[in-house]
Amino acid sequence: MQTQPTASHFIGGEYVEDTAGKPIDVIYPATGEVIGRVHSATPAIVDRALEAARGAQAAWAAMTGTERGRILRRAADIMRERNHELSVLETYDTGKPYQETSVADATSGADALEYFGGMAATLTGEHIQLGEDWVYTRREPLGVCVGIGAWNYPTQIASWKGAPALACGNTMVFKPSETTPLCALKVAEILHEAGAPAGVYNVVQGLGDVGAALVSDARVDKVSLTGSVPTGRKVYAAAAAEMKHVTMELGGKSPMIVFDDADIENAVSGAILGNFYSSGQVCSNGTRVFVQKGIKEAFLARLSERLGQAVIGDPQDPATSFGPMVSARQMEIVQGYIAKGQDEGARLVCGGNRLQRDGFFLEPTVFADVTDGMTIAREEIFGPVMAVLDFEDEGDVMARANDTEFGLAAGVFTRDLARAHRVAAGFEAGTCYINTYNDAPVEAPFGGVKASGVGRENSKAAIEHYSQVKSVYVRMGDLEAPF
Ligand code: NDP
Repeated sequence: MQTQPTASHFIGGEYVEDTAGKPIDVIYPATGEVIGRVHSATPAIVDRALEAARGAQAAWAAMTGTERGRILRRAADIMRERNHELSVLETYDTGKPYQETSVADATSGADALEYFGGMAATLTGEHIQLGEDWVYTRREPLGVCVGIGAWNYPTQIASWKGAPALACGNTMVFKPSETTPLCALKVAEILHEAGAPAGVYNVVQGLGDVGAALVSDARVDKVSLTGSVPTGRKVYAAAAAEMKHVTMELGGKSPMIVFDDADIENAVSGAILGNFYSSGQVCSNGTRVFVQKGIKEAFLARLSERLGQAVIGDPQDPATSFGPMVSARQMEIVQGYIAKGQDEGARLVCGGNRLQRDGFFLEPTVFADVTDGMTIAREEIFGPVMAVLDFEDEGDVMARANDTEFGLAAGVFTRDLARAHRVAAGFEAGTCYINTYNDAPVEAPFGGVKASGVGRENSKAAIEHYSQVKSVYVRMGDLEAPF
């Protein structure tokens, strides 16, 4: 497959190159080979992209929602038709197994384009009668939106930000992570092919400095970041300086609570999905697995057995179910945490090693007897490392589950219906699960509380974050004034 993109950037409806920008090698995580090269955006490229987005915005917003929606839905159809090639590319970009990318990336991007495309025609204001007078509201776009993505879901993030932004009549400049620059270009190409006018959706490559330049530019009205908490703090502060709107989808250290009445097989499935999917590189992962003492050893035994069935290898092989880390750097960060877990006295139940093969492969790793103060129980690792903690009762575990600066997600496994809802209500987290983990349908709001973020992606809630309401007071009679 051709992994070298036509050019580094997509601006004003076409591929654009500027080799004056710093080269960024694209590395296939399964082999460590360089499979492409793009160039970071120079100030001239950033300027061109923002001008293109600014220039296209008024005409795009002036189209009817039905017309905009039709283009988004056409893009969704194209994305689904090309799911195979987009999934292969996503696997080259990220190293995630094709078994995952073929069902979770372009398909999820298409879901967002279809959902917000369908919603575009329904975006209206309201009428408020005040005696003879009345107020009407207009739901208006924000203007130019900047999207900045993390490296774990490059197609999905580019689509989850682009679809609601465009549905509301905004235009977008999207900067993918420098680690995974390939997939967002395809999203731009498909939107253009589906009929999005030039400049409506643009992609520029670059590192954090390009993101920072975009965030601080006066031509930008809104910033949506998917990234870590430290980056979120910087981006939020820069956006605040100019009072820009923000959506912050940041990191987590989410709790998953398994009560002793849970179906063990389902709880183990949830723990696997919530820790080892995408080699653990998922923001909402339930990496603090609290298991009630009565079933702890049975849970660990079944978990180890099931992890032994993971097929680790060439991620392009549809049989492979567990792939490499995205980069050598991320692998080293995770290895550091594994060493720390051992140093601080956690019990290594399985995994812990790098695989003796090319690429950035780590074994799925489980620590038991983890205590609340250990580093592996406090910091986001963003790799295949599960921490299992013991607990006695509900009161004790809820306080511990919420004792974190993060609040992205949380899950509970139990057969007790009342307890399930009580626990979900008690979680300090934006996205909660009962007897499942990490489902993220476009119809449901997704996002965090506390340090994990601001705003929501997906669902009707996203519309609030990509549009603003103008109210218009209409007086029907004469106007009285004091003098
Ligand atoms: P980073 O925070 O390192 O980077 C995120 C993006 O921000 C990258 O494109 C990065 O550029 C860019 N960036 C870095 N510094 C700045 C800056 N000062 N101004 C503007 N942009 C900047 O995150 P990772 O890419 O390492 O992704 C992993 C993190 O993302 C984890 O914490 C994870 O939890 C979180 N995440 C959150 C999700 C959510 O929905 N809540 C979903 C997925 C991931 P570059 O890296 O190219 O230099």
